[in-house]
Amino acid sequence: SDPLAFSYAAQPMDVTFGAGSISGLRAEVEALGLTRVIVLSTPGQAGLAGEIAAQLGPLVGAIFTKATMHVPIEIVDEAASVVAKVGADGCVAVGGGSTIGLGKALSLRHRIPTVAVPTTYAGSEMTPVWGITENGVKTTGRDRVVLPVKVIYDPELSLALPLGISATSGMNAIAHAVEALWAPDRSPLISLMAEEGVRAIATALPQLKHGADLAGRSNLLYGAWLCGSCLGATTMSLHHKLCHILGGTFNLPHADTHTIVLPYVLEYNAPAAPQAVAALQRALGTDDPVAGLITLRQDWDVPSSLKQLGLTQNDLETAVDAAIASPYANPREVTAEGLRTLLARAWSGALG
Ligand code: NAD
Repeated sequence: SDPLAFSYAAQPMDVTFGAGSISGLRAEVEALGLTRVIVLSTPGQAGLAGEIAAQLGPLVGAIFTKATMHVPIEIVDEAASVVAKVGADGCVAVGGGSTIGLGKALSLRHRIPTVAVPTTYAGSEMTPVWGITENGVKTTGRDRVVLPVKVIYDPELSLALPLGISATSGMNAIAHAVEALWAPDRSPLISLMAEEGVRAIATALPQLKHGADLAGRSNLLYGAWLCGSCLGATTMSLHHKLCHILGGTFNLPHADTHTIVLPYVLEYNAPAAPQAVAALQRALGTDDPVAGLITLRQDWDVPSSLKQLGLTQNDLETAVDAAIASPYANPREVTAEGLRTLLARAWSGALG
């Protein structure tokens, strides 16, 4: 068989990137023909949402600032009733994956487009994947209607992202790229984007000594765009599956969980994914990409073991059972024994 064989279908992507690019938002919303948008944010970013709404002026039908992690159905219902009340014809989601997730849920329910203004590095704005949590269970799905129709990446809006969250959010982005490199549906363009995304983030993170470093922020957001695009274009494997199970079952923080687990999954999969390892060696500038990931996060005061997130050893077995219950793509065979070892190492922080 041909080792270069691949299939690749590009997703629609309409992106504007650059410091100050938020000033073009109003023109973009007008160009889309939207006349009455709902501006979305978390409570913590209500101030920014207010500034953006002021810029949009008469195009704003409502501001809704209750976006919450994991997109609870109650919040979706509440926001949806605002959409219906004001007759909103689009969403402008300003924030991280939680806020963009709410925009996607509204796009799904009301068939209205979302314009995304990402302020973290999670990458949700580049994917057609939605998630909604009901009774503690997060349901996810893919639908083209939730893929944001326009994305404005303005690094100035991420200057206020606390350094610890910046580090874990950057590691979350790297995780998308790592899994894209060993995805069953990987392809050359996406692999190039993945390698460049890891390189951008791994270069910028250690240089980000203070929050208000615009050059560093710009590189991180650039990497987040690339890594998010990889997430949207490929099938994720063991790492995302494990983080989804751990996050959903034990309500662990999303980016922290990714940051802790990724080196252990890379350690597990490396023997079966030589092309991913080679790309990561180049991107991280080291022969040992597992150690490279550990070094990257050691600069920061962020959790480095599942134990630190409050998980117990008994919880690990629950996670193993859940992970074995539904099969999914992975370059290396996933066995209960292998998972037990992997999770025990991530739990104790064996790699440091
Ligand atoms: P988040 O959106 O929950 O943001 C974390 C916190 O940081 C929030 O309190 C937010 O208000 C604050 N914040 C965000 N930007 C800020 C800024 N610039 N300055 C100051 N504070 C800021 O976290 P996240 O990691 O971006 O997103 C995680 C969620 O996104 C998870 O629920 C995850 O499942 C989802 N996600 C979905 C996809 C997808 O494709 N559907 C992809 C990635 C992540």
